[in-house]
Amino acid sequence: MADMNPKKTPMPEQDPKVRARNFQEVTTGYTAEMAQTEAARCLQCKKPLCVQGCPVNVHIPDFIAKVAAGEFNEAYNVITSTNTLPAVCGRVCPQETQCEARCVRGKKGDPVGIGRLERFVADWHRENSIPETAAIEKNGRRVAVVGSGPAGLACAGDLARAGCDVTVFEAFHAFGGVLVYGIPEFRLPKAVVRNEVTGLMEMGVEFRQDMIIGRTLTVDELFADGYEAVFIGSGAGLPQFMNIEGESYLNVFSANEYLTRINLMKAYLPEYDTPAPVSRVVTVVGGGNVAMDAARSALRMGAEKVFIVYRRSMEELPARAEEVHHAMEEGVVFRLLCNPTRVLGDENGRCCGLECIEMELGEPDASGRRRPIPREGSEFTIDCDTVIMALGTRPNPLLHTTTEGLDADRHGCLITDETTATTRKGVFAGGDAVTGSATVILAMGSGKKAAASILEYLKNK
Ligand code: FAD
Ligand code: SF4
Ligand code: SF4
Repeated sequence: MADMNPKKTPMPEQDPKVRARNFQEVTTGYTAEMAQTEAARCLQCKKPLCVQGCPVNVHIPDFIAKVAAGEFNEAYNVITSTNTLPAVCGRVCPQETQCEARCVRGKKGDPVGIGRLERFVADWHRENSIPETAAIEKNGRRVAVVGSGPAGLACAGDLARAGCDVTVFEAFHAFGGVLVYGIPEFRLPKAVVRNEVTGLMEMGVEFRQDMIIGRTLTVDELFADGYEAVFIGSGAGLPQFMNIEGESYLNVFSANEYLTRINLMKAYLPEYDTPAPVSRVVTVVGGGNVAMDAARSALRMGAEKVFIVYRRSMEELPARAEEVHHAMEEGVVFRLLCNPTRVLGDENGRCCGLECIEMELGEPDASGRRRPIPREGSEFTIDCDTVIMALGTRPNPLLHTTTEGLDADRHGCLITDETTATTRKGVFAGGDAVTGSATVILAMGSGKKAAASILEYLKNK
């Protein structure tokens, strides 16, 4: 008999006032007892809609039944039969629009905390299990993977398990893609990502850092070097700007650069000499997860006040509900229905304010969301010494402009067929490089799909 408590078992978390000034993880995770209590809320539906809501169809009721029975290792095996990165997805998946959105318990109360349970199982496994050392039979095929984000890691893992010799080429000096350079430590500890990378290294995957494919080596040179297939999971790291006056003033950043300085280059630690502005008032422009991460990082970097400027209303805000809630609790101030018109600068060329105009919502546009329209004469200024633009990103054109026969669409996204094959023979692609900025789980799913297609391609080659 299921536990009919309408509320999710609460997740322990740091006090908002304390956590707004440190980089430690906000939520501290379920204990085994809490996980079993939450698992008991699952109705074990015969036709589980939650599974349809998950982009990689994790067998949700099966893993939750194992959690309820205290069989955590078995629960891990169920999850990882379709999801390579459960510790990451349990933390950052937008569950409220995916698995949990479809959970029947959500009709009269909270849905089952599927993400929280997934995180618990993955963390339990990391802390308690003995790594498997079963020898993998090699098949003598060599594959290159470009990029070490979730798409690249998932693809490399499945290929290595199938016996391929896999080399991951990463432009940065650390592996994990956005999971290490974008998403901050307080949402996704780097140790969780490192653990996934170490697991692949132990499986025999070779990781090469500081290798920009298209510059250090080209895709053609990879083939000439004996790689029989190439997977491109190079993400969408090229930031967009508004092209308004004053964007070139000092202390106007793209969110990508700001977060990379803090996360990857550890600007928040005194022993690192990475330059990062010591700001009094920061304004972040945008309403997605990236904007929330930038705003909450700015608080932790010591800003007295942090604003989010977003041109639509709270209803349209694209960031995860949990991140918005956490940002508000920590003191980030939301200036909704307004849009920047220019950045103001002082005599030293430094940002000293952001001029904005108020907006109102008109008819829905092509995206189905109501179009924001400026209200004439409503200009106002936010005094601030740093502006961070979090307006979305695109794939970097480097790979398709340096690889013969590799086509991209007008947004710079690589063109693939349903098998993930690109227009260049032997080259496959997935993740944000194909879709534009999306989610971890979609990138991971496409990496797995590409691995299957590459194995098929190698078999027929
Ligand atoms: P990436 O993770 O971008 O990895 C690509 C890797 O390729 C990078 O390491 C890059 O350095 C490397 N690379 C690029 N070019 C080359 C080259 N020429 N040669 C070699 N290496 C190269 N998604 C969620 O689901 N939930 C969230 O909460 C969430 N929050 C986010 C917060 C931020 C700040 C950002 C930026 C994104 C967030 N996302 C979130 C989106 C998610 O992280 C991405 O969709 C996902 O990481 C894409 O994975 P990927 O493997 O395609 O690319
Ligand atoms: Fe939900 Fe993401 Fe896990 Fe799927 S992978 S069950 S969407 S948390
Ligand atoms: Fe359990 Fe909800 Fe899935 Fe039903 S829909 S199996 S209650 S998680």
